[in-house]
Amino acid sequence: MHETDSSTSLRTVSSGLTGFEAQVLASIDPGEATALLQDLIRQRSDFPPGDTRLAIQVVAAKLAEAGIPVEIMARREQQASLLAWLGDPLEAPCLTFHAHIDTVPAGDLQRWSVDPFGGELRDGAVYGRGAGDDKGSVAAQTMALVALARAGVNLNGCLQLAIVADEESGGLEGTVWLRDLGKLKPDLLVIGEQTNNQVAIAERVACGIDLTVFGKSTHGAMPWAGENAILKTARALSWLQEHLFPVLQRRTHPYLPPATLNIGKIQGGIQWNIVPDWCKVEMDRRLLPGETREAAMKEIQDALDEFGRCVEPLRYELFSQGEVAANVNTPQDHPFVILADRALADVAGEARPLTGYVQTSDGRWFAGSGLPIIIFGPSEPAVAHAPDEHVPVEQIVEAARFLALLALRQLAGYTIPKEAI
Ligand SMILES: [Zn+2]
Repeated sequence: MHETDSSTSLRTVSSGLTGFEAQVLASIDPGEATALLQDLIRQRSDFPPGDTRLAIQVVAAKLAEAGIPVEIMARREQQASLLAWLGDPLEAPCLTFHAHIDTVPAGDLQRWSVDPFGGELRDGAVYGRGAGDDKGSVAAQTMALVALARAGVNLNGCLQLAIVADEESGGLEGTVWLRDLGKLKPDLLVIGEQTNNQVAIAERVACGIDLTVFGKSTHGAMPWAGENAILKTARALSWLQEHLFPVLQRRTHPYLPPATLNIGKIQGGIQWNIVPDWCKVEMDRRLLPGETREAAMKEIQDALDEFGRCVEPLRYELFSQGEVAANVNTPQDHPFVILADRALADVAGEARPLTGYVQTSDGRWFAGSGLPIIIFGPSEPAVAHAPDEHVPVEQIVEAARFLALLALRQLAGYTIPKEAI
């Protein structure tokens, strides 16, 4: 399905490129990229069960066509991940392209106008579960490696491709396992997620916090004799909404939405004819770079204590467990970011502003160790996890070309043409 010929491809390549760069980028064929993404979508890898084996084989076959050796690894048989290298894996620096191949489920099929696993091409976009999140990035990264291999580029250092399982269900069987095995040790990292082909350099991280409010049980016929924990919680949450939310809203970052607190789940009581003596709320506090779990907990505690003083006595517990990851927060003047920014401008033919990633990516497993991380991928963030998920072919091709150029300039010693500076 090669619907765009090479002359069309060449027209999209801007003049900030050397002749060789333009040639490598033009070799990334829209038809081939489309077919790859369609195949990836047709090999379901939705979680549960998140069986990625067939989809991983699609990537492996494409890389094999270009003579790129691959290693397929799995801690649990179904959750296969793929690693591939161009250049010497032991030679520094290692630039890693990372994307996840598992997807969320299709959800309610009635809400789709296409088969979520059909990979339909409609009006220049490929449709299906994972088209954006994250098989679009898988296809773009794979095509970038294939183009570089076909061009026979010699790299100073190593370009690694990591296509992983288990991102949608936590990352422990994919990225974290590979990292802890020493298989993922990037010096420079590109995480493929949906940034609409903008370079994102920061993200917030999730911090789960549980609030339990206590009351006093009695017969449901005599509510005046008890302390209703559910009603107390409702009033305390309104207080937080009124007094804490505006404080969070004012806390900003140049590339990210403000800090937020989501009230995600509430449960309490025993049954209808008993005044409840407990109510538990599960909250999602998204931390900006520089914020800590301890500070976020203390802030909620201070607001609740104020409620206790100003409104009514409140007995409660706050609890937070599990690892809170570090924020991706790469300085905007880091040489890798500057290189990426220029490479994107040269491929896109326009400067695109740096941005932040609204969700949280697998980049969090590497953040905090000082390596530069950018998040970059085709697709609008809003189409991820939604019915009729789709991604324009143009964006896949542009992403693949950007990634190939980034690798060329970072690893092959190609200097930025003077006219682009
Ligand atoms: Zn994703």
